[in-house]
Amino acid sequence: MAKPRLKVIPLGGLSEIGKNMMAIEYGDDIIVIDAGLMFPGEEVLGIDLIIPDISYLLEKREKIRGIIITHGHEDHVGALPYLLPQLNVPVYSTKLTQGLISVKLKERKALSGAKLKIIPSTGQVTLGKFKIEFFPVCHSIPDAVGLIISTPVGTIVHSGDFKLDYTPVSGKPTDLSRLAQLGLQGVLLLLSDSTYAELPGYTPSERVVGETLDHIMANAPGKVIVTTFASLISRVQQVIDAAAKHQRRVFIVGRSMSDTSRMALELGYLKAPNGILGRLDELRGMPLNKIVLVTTGSQGEPTSALVRIANRDHRQVHIVPGDTVVLSSTPIPGNEGLINRTLDSLFKQGAQVLYSSVAPVHVHGHGSQEELKLLLNLVKPKFFMPIHGEYRHLSLHAKLAESVGIPRKNIFVLEDGDILELNPQTAKITGKIASGNVYVDGLSVGGIGSVVLRDRRMLSRDGMVVVIIAVNGQTGKLVGRPDIVSRGFVDTREAKDMLDESRDLVARTLDHSGVRAAEWSFVNAKVRDTLHKFYYEQTKRRPMILPFMVKV
Ligand SMILES: [Zn+2]
Ligand SMILES: [Zn+2]
Repeated sequence: MAKPRLKVIPLGGLSEIGKNMMAIEYGDDIIVIDAGLMFPGEEVLGIDLIIPDISYLLEKREKIRGIIITHGHEDHVGALPYLLPQLNVPVYSTKLTQGLISVKLKERKALSGAKLKIIPSTGQVTLGKFKIEFFPVCHSIPDAVGLIISTPVGTIVHSGDFKLDYTPVSGKPTDLSRLAQLGLQGVLLLLSDSTYAELPGYTPSERVVGETLDHIMANAPGKVIVTTFASLISRVQQVIDAAAKHQRRVFIVGRSMSDTSRMALELGYLKAPNGILGRLDELRGMPLNKIVLVTTGSQGEPTSALVRIANRDHRQVHIVPGDTVVLSSTPIPGNEGLINRTLDSLFKQGAQVLYSSVAPVHVHGHGSQEELKLLLNLVKPKFFMPIHGEYRHLSLHAKLAESVGIPRKNIFVLEDGDILELNPQTAKITGKIASGNVYVDGLSVGGIGSVVLRDRRMLSRDGMVVVIIAVNGQTGKLVGRPDIVSRGFVDTREAKDMLDESRDLVARTLDHSGVRAAEWSFVNAKVRDTLHKFYYEQTKRRPMILPFMVKV
C-alpha cells in the first residue's frame, strides 16, 4: 500500500489580504488552520463580506479533526459563524480567542452546539496523526499564537500573524527560544506571515502609540474620542492607562466594542482601575476634558458609533469644537472612501482629528523585513512557503528567504487552492482544488453569484432603461409607441430627443418584425440588441435594458 502523503492546501489568504484558511492533510486526517473573512472592495457592490469556499472540506468532512485558530482577528475567525454550522467540528484556540469567537458566534446565533476548546498559549493537542503545539507570538491582539505541527513526514511551523515587539502592551513577546530550539532539531516547512514583507527594518513597538495617547490625553482641551477595531484590546488598554494617568473617565460606546471589552475584562485581558469606566448616561454635566470615549468606526462602517457621531446622528454623543478624535488603525484597502467622508465631517464640526498619516497613533501588528529574516534564520526550514498576503507580498517574502540562504527550489509561492505535497526530501505543487470566494450579502450566504455582481456593476456604472411595450391581448400586435423609463443613465430632460428617438426605433423594429406575444423571448432580445447599439452610439454607455410587455 502506498504511504499517505502530506498535503498543505491554502483555502484562503494567499494572493489576498484576508479570509485566511489552510488545510493540512495526511491520510485520513485533516486539520484546518483559521477561518477568516475578507471585507470586499468596491468591485463587489453591496456585498457585506467574503468567506472562503470550503467545498473541498465538505467533501471530506468526516476526515476533519478540528479547526485551530491562531488569534481572534476577523481575517482569522470571521468565517466561523458561517462555516462552523456546515462543518460541525471542534475549534481549538487560546482563551481570549475563544472569547472573541463566542461573541461572533452569538451575534450570528451560531453559538449553540459549537464545540470550542481552550488550549493555553504554550499548550498542545493531538488530532489524528497531527500533534499541534502552540507558541506565543506578539501581534496586535493578546493571546495570539503560532503553531508547531508534528506530522509523520516532519515538522511544520506556522507563524500565525506575528511581529517581534520586545515591549508589548499586553500579551507575551514572540517565543524566539522555542523556535531556535526547533531550528536545531530540523523543520520541514515554515509558513510565515507576509503582510508587511514590503517594509524594510523593524515594526515599531506598541509603546510608541502609548506615548502619543498619553500626550493627547494631557493636552486635549475637550473630550477625546478614540476609535479602533473592537478586537484591538491592547489599544483599548493603552487608552484606559493614559486616561487614568490624566484623571479622565472612559466610556465605551457601541455594541461590538462594549461586548468585546466586557468579555476581555471578565477574562482578565483588559484591566481598568475601579470607577474609571462609566456609563453613557453619566456623561451629562461632566467637564469635557475629563471624558474619553472609545468606539468602533475606524473603517467608516456606516452603522458604527463614530460614523453616527460624525453624522450628528448619535443620541448621547455630539462633537463640539475642541474635541479630539483619534483613528487608531490603518485603513483596510477599499474603505478609504468611507473613512475620508467621516474625517471630513468631523473636521467640519470643529474637531481635531488625528490619524496614522498625521500622527503616530497606530502601529500595525506584523513583522517587517528584518523580523521575517530573523524568523527564517531561527527556524531554518528545509522548505518555505510565504502566507498571508497579496502576490507581491508573497514574492517579496520569497526573495527574503532566498537572501538568507534558502534555495529557490525549496521556496513555494502558492495561490489559494494549490496543493503542496511534501515528503522528508522533496516538495512539489501537485494540483489544484476548487477554491474561491463565497459572498455574504445581508442574510444570504453564497446566494450571490457573478451574475448578480455583474448586474450591480452595470447598474452602478451606466444605469438602467425600462422599456414598456403594450401589445393587444387578442392580436398580439403592438399598441402605440413603447414607453421608456430610465434611471441613472442620462438626464431625461436634456436627453429627451434621444430617448424619444429610441422609442420610435423600438416601435419601428417591432413593427417590421411583426411582434406576437408568443414570441416574447425573441422580442426581448431584439429590443435589447437594438437599444444597446443605439444608446452606445449616442452616449458610449451600456445601461441595463429591461423590456416589459403589458397586454392591453
Ligand atoms: Zn491578525
Ligand atoms: Zn491576519
